[in-house]
Amino acid sequence: MTCGDSYDPECAKALERMFFFIDHELADADVTEIQQHLDDCRPCLLKYDLERTVKALVARSCSEHAPEALRERVLVHIREVHVRLID
Ligand SMILES: [Zn+2]
Repeated sequence: MTCGDSYDPECAKALERMFFFIDHELADADVTEIQQHLDDCRPCLLKYDLERTVKALVARSCSEHAPEALRERVLVHIREVHVRLID
């Protein structure tokens, strides 16, 4: 299986539910499933880490002046990492 490819159904499924996973809004069975996928799939794990970082940064900077600019900067960083990952 070519994991990390966003067209991979397993990865697509994991990424789709990742936001709920980060927010702890999943049932235990789903949590286990995603956790297992993240253990097996490094690209998804990396995305999960970055997604969590973005969330933390945005949450922390909510009361500050430019959360949008910060978010944009982090998203650019994510894209760079992702591109490097594919290459
Ligand atoms: Zn994956």
